[in-house]
Amino acid sequence: MLALSGGAPVRTRPFPSWPVWDHTDEEALLEVLRSGMWGLGGSKVPEFENRFAAYHGAKYGVAACNGTVTLQVALTALGVGPGDEVIVPGYTFVATGAAVLHVGAIPVIVDIDPDTYNIDPEAVRSAITPRTKCIIPVHVGGNPADMDAIMALAEEHGIAVLEDAAQAHGARIGGRGVGSIGHIGSFSFQATKNLNAGEGGILITDDEELAALCRAYRNCGRFGGAREPVLGWDFRLTEFQAGLLLSQMNRLEEQTRRRDENGRYLAEQLRTVPGIRPLKRLDSVERHAYHLFIFRFSAEEWGVSLDLFIEALAAEGIPCSRGYVPLYRDPLFVTSGQSCPAAWPGLPNSLEQRAYRRMHLPNAERASEEAVWIPHYVLLGSRDDMDDVVEAVRKLYNHREALAKARGSGKAKRYAGLEG
Ligand SMILES: *Cc1c(COP(=O)(O)O)cnc(C)c1O
Repeated sequence: MLALSGGAPVRTRPFPSWPVWDHTDEEALLEVLRSGMWGLGGSKVPEFENRFAAYHGAKYGVAACNGTVTLQVALTALGVGPGDEVIVPGYTFVATGAAVLHVGAIPVIVDIDPDTYNIDPEAVRSAITPRTKCIIPVHVGGNPADMDAIMALAEEHGIAVLEDAAQAHGARIGGRGVGSIGHIGSFSFQATKNLNAGEGGILITDDEELAALCRAYRNCGRFGGAREPVLGWDFRLTEFQAGLLLSQMNRLEEQTRRRDENGRYLAEQLRTVPGIRPLKRLDSVERHAYHLFIFRFSAEEWGVSLDLFIEALAAEGIPCSRGYVPLYRDPLFVTSGQSCPAAWPGLPNSLEQRAYRRMHLPNAERASEEAVWIPHYVLLGSRDDMDDVVEAVRKLYNHREALAKARGSGKAKRYAGLEG
């Protein structure tokens, strides 16, 4: 019997919990505490910046207090400002769009590839205008976007590329680490992310001048006396966070390999269940970071609604949730704009806002109606743990007629309960 209807769940043992820490992390934090260097002037932030950038194959790292302001800093350093257009995907966390608004630019939201949920390069091509200053591909769930196609377009039109790699620590495509392929890449260390210190973020780039600008914008506009200041912010990371990130980083490679291996296996297995379609990865993807394991669920083929499926799967003991709504349906884009006037200088007469309300990107809409998310820490488990996930899905499939008649609360969780 279905666990949703009172039967025994497939899984009663918990999956690995997140975050992972031990005495080495305690030591790292105590070391900072005892040093008395808790902020500016300490050695942990620069050490972490260098190590994280090098790990992804970039020359420079600029750490900041979160992965939203890093996007804002990068856009500002790239010279993106009021009236400029920035192309963003229709399936992402709201911060990708909000950062564009914060610099006064206009988010031009384009559709995604239905098989990967990443930005569709053809949709990007159609959206380019003389006002386009930047493209922000997001590696959704840790699955690298089609960077070859995006970089080719960007070069052809002289447009900057800012990779939003907030979910993709350690992912690799075409022999390169994500974040180091575009002109600049941004990561988040918020509590749920694959590398975390509660909060935090970093920009990585090979461009020395761009790195110097980002460093200044992050640090009150100062260039350390080398030149005149710019109008910056204080978006600095603390030494405690950098110390913790350094010790957390000792596990990143092993954890990323494990997620990738389990993610591949889970995709192979789940693909054999009718109406279940794990997202594809491009052939050039060497490593998927699997911040999220995402699969498409066909309510039509099962005769079961997405909400009911998710509730039933969660009842079987498998952590899961619905995913994003299309970005233009986020309250930020459908409100009158009165609530955030300072954030809308690029939209003087709200015409564009009305355009967001009329927007309909078929693949992003569909993703919002069919996506099931399994959080990354599930993939830190063993092969047996993966088999339990498959068994739970198979059980639901075999009982789909009973499931169609079962009663749920009617509302499944939207996010993995963890989104910031
Ligand atoms: C988490 C996330 C961000 C924002 O990072 P914070 O550190 O939470 O501010 C930006 N973009 C994407 C795609 C994210 O997942």
